[in-house]
Amino acid sequence: MKIKSLHLNSDSQVVKKIVNEVLDLFDSEFNEDLTIENFFRDEVVETHMKLGDREFFRSERIRQDEIERAEINRLIKKNLYRIFIEDFGFDSAPWGILHGVRPTKLIHRWLNRGEDESQILNRLETDYLASAEKSQLIIEVANRQRSILEKNSRDVVSIYIGIPFCVTRCLYCSFASHVLPKSEKIREFMTALRRDIQAARKSIEDLNLKVQTIYIGGGTPTSLPDEFFAEMIDLVSENFSTDRLEEFTVEAGRPDTITRSKIESMNRAGVNRVSLNPQSMNQKTLDRIGRRHTPEDIIEKFHMLRESKNFYINMDTILGLPGETVNDVAATIDQILELDPDGITIHSLALKKGSRLKLQLEDYELPIDSEVRSMYRVAVDKIRSRNYSPYYLYRQSYMRGDLENVGFTHNKLGIYNVQIMEENQTIIGIGGAATTKVLDLKSRKLMSSFNAKDLITYLRDTDYYIDKRSKLLEEFYD
Ligand code: SF4
Repeated sequence: MKIKSLHLNSDSQVVKKIVNEVLDLFDSEFNEDLTIENFFRDEVVETHMKLGDREFFRSERIRQDEIERAEINRLIKKNLYRIFIEDFGFDSAPWGILHGVRPTKLIHRWLNRGEDESQILNRLETDYLASAEKSQLIIEVANRQRSILEKNSRDVVSIYIGIPFCVTRCLYCSFASHVLPKSEKIREFMTALRRDIQAARKSIEDLNLKVQTIYIGGGTPTSLPDEFFAEMIDLVSENFSTDRLEEFTVEAGRPDTITRSKIESMNRAGVNRVSLNPQSMNQKTLDRIGRRHTPEDIIEKFHMLRESKNFYINMDTILGLPGETVNDVAATIDQILELDPDGITIHSLALKKGSRLKLQLEDYELPIDSEVRSMYRVAVDKIRSRNYSPYYLYRQSYMRGDLENVGFTHNKLGIYNVQIMEENQTIIGIGGAATTKVLDLKSRKLMSSFNAKDLITYLRDTDYYIDKRSKLLEEFYD
């Protein structure tokens, strides 16, 4: 929503964020001054809003079973949202005022407290004004995740390895990924990665931790030339693969990076899960978003991976790509379903700072929000009709259609996807732009350590990042 100026009776960054989150939901231009004043008295949050010379008011009583500060913030948001929906007549947002990347965490908190499904459904629809459809979806996803999350224990961890290279940069990419450099630079990276991996192994051994899953992402790890890829995957497997390892994933996002040699390397190393990401099966779209491959390449590489029989194959798509229609999405999903992958993840395009798309927005025609929601409906109906069920879900800022990203599977849940999204396990990050998150299961407190996003800094200061991670792990586990 565009306004002339915004005045708040609070300097709090949280309140500013809340107000902006609500304004972002509504696509309209008000060339007027907006004043918002919030007051908390007698357990009631009052919101007074003035837009130009019009005045509005809402008030709500806080719940006693939640933290007071969090309740005040929720009710400021709810009051504002209600004014825009009820007094201005805007369409309600699918997720209501439920913002944040990991909405399922809230459901797990309520389930852990013993609340039943009907109470949770009621809270989502009444307290957060989420639609019945999204409320049911999130409960379905959370219930499916319980079998993984309930088994977690303090000393069982996962490992993330970041290979920050891609063959080209996608139009919408905002990740810390670099176009594949010359061999000398890759060699430099491999040397740093080796040190990083060996140091992580030492921490794991010294602290007597067990590795449940390994995830090699980036970037696109399969962008590495065959010999570097083989070296990298052997290094990972030699250091972390044990009989207890339950899942070993490699992001093989771009079909043009998959070769027979890499498939052999993955088989040798014990990889059992790969992600092959078409995003769209429409050639014009693939060209537009800067991917140098064809839909036929995707099909060919899918069959090549399938031949080995060892891999669970997931495929990613993006809804709302420039120039795409509902029919394009329907055709993409039909072609993916024809291949019968083990998992499918649908994303809604997020317009992220740092992406080329965001910088050159005026050069592209993006489907409007209502169209993206129709794409979502068509895609989900088709996927569900082929017996796939949703099992992980997350949201991002600036998503088209105010939707969510959802992973579907036939029957086998991606363990790492659940652990990382629910932040319910310690994840040890290694390599470019990787993050280590140490979780205290009792207090639910997360402590993090970040490797540099920028490759030059990571290569220059590898020992510094290793040291920071080792100290963080020692502090918590020793
Ligand atoms: S494949 Fe992923 S990481 Fe690589 S450029 Fe595209 S969006 Fe970025």
